[in-house]
Amino acid sequence: MEENSCPICLRQLAEPSCRHHLIPLSQGGKGDVTFLMHKICHSKVHSVFNEKELKRTYTSIEKILENEDIQKFINWVKKKPLDFYDGSFKAKK
Ligand SMILES: [Zn+2]
Ligand SMILES: [Zn+2]
Repeated sequence: MEENSCPICLRQLAEPSCRHHLIPLSQGGKGDVTFLMHKICHSKVHSVFNEKELKRTYTSIEKILENEDIQKFINWVKKKPLDFYDGSFKAKK
């Protein structure tokens, strides 16, 4: 995978972007496995999975990408500008 592409939508990275911790810091993650992704892609991941689900199950990008909601999101976001972000995805508790 290219360093400058988003692991979720595979498009070129652009601002705003966010760093995703595969194991959330709040769940004991040490911040050693992180991926830079578009802010909108990052907020979508956190709206579909809560932190416990991320820690238990979604511990790799491959697992995250298998999710049907994420697949639908990718098809949708691919038509948006690289810097698109509207704050509409709220983190799942
Ligand atoms: Zn992306
Ligand atoms: Zn994250």
